[in-house]
Parts: sequence; C-alpha cells; structure tokens
Amino acid sequence: MGKMVGIDLGTTNSCVAYMENGEPVIIPNAEGGRTTPSVVAFLKNGERVVGAAAKRQAVTNSQRTVFSIKRDMGTDNRVKIDGKSYTPQEISAMILQKLKADAEAYLGESVTDAVITVPAYFSDSQRQATKDAGRIAGINVLRIINEPTAAALAYGMDKGAAQKIMVYDLGGGTFDVSVLDVQNDMIEVLATAGNNRLGGDDFDNCISSWLVDEFLRQEGIDLTREPAAMNRIREAAEKAKIELSSAMSTVISLPFLASGPDGAKHMETTLTRAKFDQLTAHLVEATMGPAKQALSDAGLTPAQLSRVLLVGGSTRIPAVQKAVKQFTGKDPSRDINPDECVAMGACLQGGVLAGQVTGLLLLDVTPLSLGIETMGDVFSRIIDRNTSIPVQRSQIFTTAANFQTSVDVHVLQGEREIASCNKTLGRFRLSGIRRALRGVPQIEVTFSIDANGIVNVSARDLGTGKHQEITLTHSSNMSDAEIDKAVREAQRYAAEDKQRKQSAELRNDAEQLMNDSRAIQKNLSRQDRERLEGMRRNLKKAMDGKNDDEIHRCMAEMTRALESMGRHVQNHGADESDGAMDADFTDSDYRG
Ligand code: AMP
Repeated sequence: MGKMVGIDLGTTNSCVAYMENGEPVIIPNAEGGRTTPSVVAFLKNGERVVGAAAKRQAVTNSQRTVFSIKRDMGTDNRVKIDGKSYTPQEISAMILQKLKADAEAYLGESVTDAVITVPAYFSDSQRQATKDAGRIAGINVLRIINEPTAAALAYGMDKGAAQKIMVYDLGGGTFDVSVLDVQNDMIEVLATAGNNRLGGDDFDNCISSWLVDEFLRQEGIDLTREPAAMNRIREAAEKAKIELSSAMSTVISLPFLASGPDGAKHMETTLTRAKFDQLTAHLVEATMGPAKQALSDAGLTPAQLSRVLLVGGSTRIPAVQKAVKQFTGKDPSRDINPDECVAMGACLQGGVLAGQVTGLLLLDVTPLSLGIETMGDVFSRIIDRNTSIPVQRSQIFTTAANFQTSVDVHVLQGEREIASCNKTLGRFRLSGIRRALRGVPQIEVTFSIDANGIVNVSARDLGTGKHQEITLTHSSNMSDAEIDKAVREAQRYAAEDKQRKQSAELRNDAEQLMNDSRAIQKNLSRQDRERLEGMRRNLKKAMDGKNDDEIHRCMAEMTRALESMGRHVQNHGADESDGAMDADFTDSDYRG
C-alpha cells in the first residue's frame, strides 16, 4: 500500500494532507500553494491544466475552463468541450489526479488511498459521484466523510474537554452546518443541515449583477451578452468581495470592458462594504434557517453551545461572522485555519482507519430521511434524518391489491410527507410474491447506510423468501462500465501527460544546450563556431518537429562536439582559439 492522504475536494479550492508522526500535515502543490483551485482548463493545443494555471488563463479561454464542478456532482449535467462530453465525476477526477500527482511528487512515493470529504448535506447520489471520481483518478477511496465533521475532528484533536460545537461551513458553492458533541476522544454528530447550492459564488454573482446593472445604466450596454466581459466582471467581483472582508470600500476598475459607438468603454466604480452587505443580506439570512434547524434537531439552544467553528473561505465575510455571532451569542473560534482544517480532519480519519491514530471515534449522521413510496403518494420514512451511521432499519409492508405477485419499491430521500416531492434515489421490483389477498403478504424492506453514507435497500417476501436488493446509484451516476472506461481514459491521459512533460523537459534541456553552446563559442575557432551553428539549426529543426528521438540524437551529437571542443580549448588556451588556430583542429576533433 502506498501513502494515504486526506482530501478536501472543494468547490473553489482543494487541499491535501498526510500523516507525519501521527499528525496531519498539509501537502503543498507543485506551485507551492497550500490549496489548489478546483479549476480545469482545456487548452487549444489539446493540453489540460488544473489548478492555479487553469484559473489564471480563464479570462482568455472561458469556454474551455471549468469552475465549481462540485455543484454538478450527482446531476446529469455534462461539460462539453471540443465535441467531447465529460461527466462531473470525470472533471472532478482530473482535479484529484493533479492533487495525487503533486502529493506523490512531494512525498516521493505513490499515493494510493484517500479519505475524501463532502458537504454534510450531500445526497446519496452526490456521495456516490464523489466516490466514483476518486476511482476514476486511480484512488482507493477509504471513506467519504462530511466536511464539518472533518473540521471538528481536526479541531477536537487537541481540545480534550467535553463540549457541544457548532460548525458553520460556508465554502465557494455549498453551505452546511453541523452540531457535534465532542467528548474526550469521541466525536458524535448530533445533527446536520444545509443547502448544497449556496456559497461564495452567489456572493460574487450579486456583485456581478450589480456591476452589470450599473454599466447598463451608465453606458447603455448590456454586458451579459459578452462572455469575455462577463468573465472579467466575475473575476473582479470575487476580488472586490475578498477585499471587502478587510477594507470598508474597494475600487473596481476594468478598462476596455466593451466598445460603444463612440469608442472603448471602461468600468471604474467603488463598492462599499455597506452596499455589499445590502446586496448579499438575503444570502447571509438564508444560512440562518439551516443553522436553527440543526440546533433544534440536536435538541439544543444556542446557549448550550460551547463553541462555534467557522469553516470555508466565505466565513471571512464580516457580515457572515456577525450573523453567526448574533444567532449563537458566541464569538466564533478563529484558532483553526478554515481553508486547511477539513483536509487535516479527513487525514486524521484516514489515520484512524489505517490504525495510525488510535482512540478516536467518529460517529456521523445521515443528513436526510430515507424511505419508500406507499399507496396514495405517501412517503413512508424508514430512517430519520440525523440518525447515526452506519445504520440498518427494517419495516414490514404489504400488498395493496388482491393476488398481487410483485411490488415496485420506490426509494426516496427527503423530508416531505408527499412521496413525489422528495428525491428519487432508485426503483426496483420484487416479484414472485405468493398469490394472496391484499394485506396478507409480508414484505420486509431493509435500508442500510454504510459509514460513507451510501445507501443499500433490500426487500424480502417473508412468505416465499424471495429477495431483491440494490445499492443505490442514482440514474445520473455512472454505471460500472462507464466508470471503467473513464478510469482507462484517465490512466491514458496520465501516461500522455507524463510523456508531454518529458517532451517539454527535453525541449527545455535542448534550449539550454543551445544557450550553453552560444556561451562558449567565443572561445572557439570560426570553423567550430560554424559547425555548432549547423548543429543548432538541426536541433532547432528537430525541436519544431514531433520526433523526440531526433532531438535526443542532435543533443548527443552537440554534447559530444562541445566536450571535444572544450577539451581542445583547455589544452590550447582560450585566447589562442580564434582565427589563426583553425588549422590545429583535426578531423578527429570533430567526430568527438
Ligand atoms: P472554500 O470552498 O472553502 O475554498 O471557499 C472558497 C470561497 O471563499 C470562494 O467563494 C472565495 O471567494 C471565498 N473567499 C476566500 N477568501 C475570502 C475572503 N477573504 N473574504 C470573502 N470570501 C473569501
């Protein structure tokens, strides 16, 4: 087994940690950053880049740059680029591949296993999709754990005292809030709630819309029709938002944003924190509902909380901090890094699973109720939300019609009493039921949720013993065959990527060799200089082509010649090298 890591696969940024001497330590990426933007870009030359490099080029390559893919996990949405269509799992796998490769380069050994985090409020299909992404990237996903739980785990490590903690996690695209009971080495999640479509991106969008409206009002130009301008606006909006976390106002300046009948149009405007707070007040308010619900599900009042932890980049927004303080009556703790604690907690959980960390027990919960549809569009709950996992629950159902020999089991997740208002996780049919009057057959339906939060449902006719079960993979998730295909493609891409890297390094070395040859040539005879010139031309030609073997050959030839010329210069003295000494060189010198 190679190394195990903890991965926070974030909407906006991702972060990786590994265990060193029993402690989780953040792994910097290849660029030296402690977090990696969760951005994938497809360059025009067919190359793929992930992370800071992808984010940097987004403005000029917006149509081929993918942001916030986490928001699409578990959906049927596809990313279409150059006629190829990618599932959200495949795009996420590209991010995971970069994280894995960087971690391997840093650690000097292969990374095979990981604990990956998801928002507590992720549904079954979103969790499955995350697991599939890991598999596609060639990672054995040991466990999927909830982000707030991971944060509490990182926090709870060195804070032994018993306490009830609220973790308020507002990231780039998701929001969740969890209430946990931390007792010595046991961390029990009491309740969790959230909204997996609310995050920092929405704050950016509010600023973007305001800027678009301002521009329309001042210049009469609708920027929403200009994709390139919209990308610059979005980028400036996020920058302004971040600045407003520490400053009271910020200047947004976007020269040459559009062109009007009388020439180029620029944007130059000031956004104050007060205006920003006003534009985004509804978003801050929207986080309060889940916060109240989690607390009441945990059976606690705000006064019973010992601490409030803020996780996720968007909790740096002052209005968010103020709202949390107002609701809980507590100053949020700031002693953990909101960007890094989730990966560290995931790593700790990995350490527990691998036996590297002992005496730490994590009891998580399922975020949403699970059940089946029964007659009259009724949702019959089998497992209530906030039940500790792993869990298994059974209930007996019967037939609705006389002599019915099969039943359709419609598995649902949600909190509504009406079945059709909840989310369908899957359907299956149990057939071969003994013919009998309605209400006589006894059909036992069993739900189990494993430690990853992944659901399995089975139905058994107690009369005949007939049995049918499914591990739920929502229809938007990929089939095993599709995943296997994606795994092969990812492996092929990793091999191609390696080849591309080697090729780029080779060209770099060749460039270097040409520079070296130029640097020493002043000490050489004219004849040798001309000879080197010729070799450089050949090497340049090889570099312009696709044949790396030819580059190797030209480089070897040039290296041999340079060695031999260098030896000669040493033997004869540098200042003898010009003009008159040409005749001293023999043919054998040239062969090298
Ligand atoms: P995360 O998903 O936890 O990495 O959070 C990313 C989100 O946090 C993005 O929407 C960022 O724009 C936002 N963010 C990062 N730093 C700040 C800051 N200083 N103030 C406000 N938002 C921030």
